[in-house]
Amino acid sequence: MVEALAAGEPVAMPTETVYGLAADALSPNACAKIFEAKNRPLSDPLIVHIPSIDWLPRLTSPTPAALQLAEKFWPGPLTMVLPRQPIVPDIVTAGQETVAIRMSAHPLFQEVATAFGKPLAAPSANRFGRISPTSAAHVLAELDGRIPFILDGGPCAHGIESTIVHVSDDGLRILREGPITREDLRAFAPLLDDSIAVSAPGGLKSHYAPRTPLVLEKNPAPRSQKTGLLAFSAPREGFAQTEILSATSDLREAAANLYGAMRRLDEAGLDLIVAEEIPESGIGAAIMERLRKAAAR
Ligand code: AMP
Ligand code: MG
Repeated sequence: MVEALAAGEPVAMPTETVYGLAADALSPNACAKIFEAKNRPLSDPLIVHIPSIDWLPRLTSPTPAALQLAEKFWPGPLTMVLPRQPIVPDIVTAGQETVAIRMSAHPLFQEVATAFGKPLAAPSANRFGRISPTSAAHVLAELDGRIPFILDGGPCAHGIESTIVHVSDDGLRILREGPITREDLRAFAPLLDDSIAVSAPGGLKSHYAPRTPLVLEKNPAPRSQKTGLLAFSAPREGFAQTEILSATSDLREAAANLYGAMRRLDEAGLDLIVAEEIPESGIGAAIMERLRKAAAR
């Protein structure tokens, strides 16, 4: 695994959020192979995962708030967007003057990152725009034949991508909702803007999407013989196939099950998937953000 990284190859491995496709973040050639394997547009910047906190000031100009956030939430599912240092390649930032940084809490990811000893660029290990992988089997379904290794660490604990927060002297702005919730961040510091900044690169309207059309409804009803249901906590009459995110209405469990359930429905040969709206508190906001993007065409 580490030899492949040192040779400039991208390898898939688990993080606590979703499986990542990791490569040497300081090598533009290695990062180019990530874009190639995923079919990702070069306009969509990569998140850099650091092996240790001393890399934060080497890659960015951390503000005092950034250091405090790192202290509180790292290692963990929080990505900070900060001014970059010149050693960060342009391909990583899509030419911007900021870079997105996080430190993974997954023991396998940490082990590989520590052995490699340098930062790893690691977006989700799926084809661009598709459902993010939360198991090694999902990565295989997405990238078989395109990458040399997949490290299998079992299912991901959170199951949805990290929270992304832009950190500046003025305050914090959430660019993508995730496992570290709006409430968690607000308790830490005032949030600048209560709406998601839609102008974030990669903040596309359609993303995380199954191939089967998906609609989001408060009270799902079947439309045909072959309508599938992505339910929050209980089944409903008349659907050809049903996936339940959490029988106990636990939002964390629902997040962890989201992408696997979407994938199973997508593979069931349905005409349509109807997803039930879920409560938008805590991590529910991040789940609804993913469902809206899966429904957008
Ligand atoms: P992922 O594909 O899950 O690794 O997500 C990467 C996302 O991080 C991108 O699509 C962007 O939305 C965001 N991102 C990465 N770098 C930056 C940056 N410098 N500024 C703003 N957003 C960024
Ligand atoms: Mg992704």
